[in-house]
Amino acid sequence: MKNQIFKTLLVSGIFLSHAFFLYGQNAQEKDNIQKVLEEAWNDTKSVAGGKNADYIPYLANVPSGLFGIVTVTTDGKIYKTGNSDYEFGIESISKVFVLALAMQTVHPDTIQKNIGVNATGMPFNSVIAIELEGKSPVSPIVNAGAMATNSLIKGETREEQFDKILKYFSKIANRPLHVISELYQSEAATNMHNRAIAMLLASYGHMWADPLDACDSYTKQCSVGITAEDLAMMGSFLANGGIHPVTKERILKEEYVPKVLAVMSMEGLYQNTGDWMYTVGLPAKSGVGGGILAIVPGKMAIAVFAPPLDEAGNSVKAQKAIAFMAKKLGFNIYQP
Ligand code: GLN
Repeated sequence: MKNQIFKTLLVSGIFLSHAFFLYGQNAQEKDNIQKVLEEAWNDTKSVAGGKNADYIPYLANVPSGLFGIVTVTTDGKIYKTGNSDYEFGIESISKVFVLALAMQTVHPDTIQKNIGVNATGMPFNSVIAIELEGKSPVSPIVNAGAMATNSLIKGETREEQFDKILKYFSKIANRPLHVISELYQSEAATNMHNRAIAMLLASYGHMWADPLDACDSYTKQCSVGITAEDLAMMGSFLANGGIHPVTKERILKEEYVPKVLAVMSMEGLYQNTGDWMYTVGLPAKSGVGGGILAIVPGKMAIAVFAPPLDEAGNSVKAQKAIAFMAKKLGFNIYQP
């Protein structure tokens, strides 16, 4: 009897201390992520260099000093610091999500064959890249490939086609998103180069809708307003094998997730992607609105927003902040 009581006490003691240990560990990990976020923010806030995109007039007028960092972990926790709720243009980061949406209906092999999944090593709106690479768009996340990918999304009308994209973005952001109409108008009035690319692709048989409609829908997808928190939320399913860590909904087939991440690793920061992967080692995607999304598979999505860009169109501060966090937390896909 005594023995029995002793055993019970011992077992519950071990259980309780274990529970407290795990609780302590969780709390510690939580504090640590928040601490690293704030350290990254402080370390990066006075980094100079870069300037707002100005080929789209709206973007030139976004306050340059804004700076926010957010992470959403694979267990659905949100950490944030700085300007995490300022709404900015998603721009090219939208290309990743339209690719994931296209994979719901078009097999990744078809995307590889008809659009391409290689690196261009060139600016995002390069025409030479199309010509050099066998008259094809090369990657779904340069302008050419993104418009071609957009043309794979089908709808009865143009409105319905874009609505599919917006609904998908809203689902993964876990809140209703909208097009910033001033930004859309600003882009639509100045996107002759993209229209030319769309027509060129059509002439080479790489458009699956009216090219100017695809260009317009692409321009709209780029003008969707998101906060840094939305961006981390949107990217979180890519860190979690395709299941959204907050809504628990399956967003993308598990075996397609590495394909999206591979495309990001190849082309996410355009002609600077090699330098980025060499120094940081995380699949990422930038947008000329000043956002960068980086994915740490199995762990978290990191979103940073700060408008001034380098010459390739990548946020200067966002790159620095993500590099800081990756180093501090030991994140690099090439390092176990
Ligand atoms: N909408 C922008 C464009 O087509 C997106 C470019 C970017 O974010 N890199 O030029």
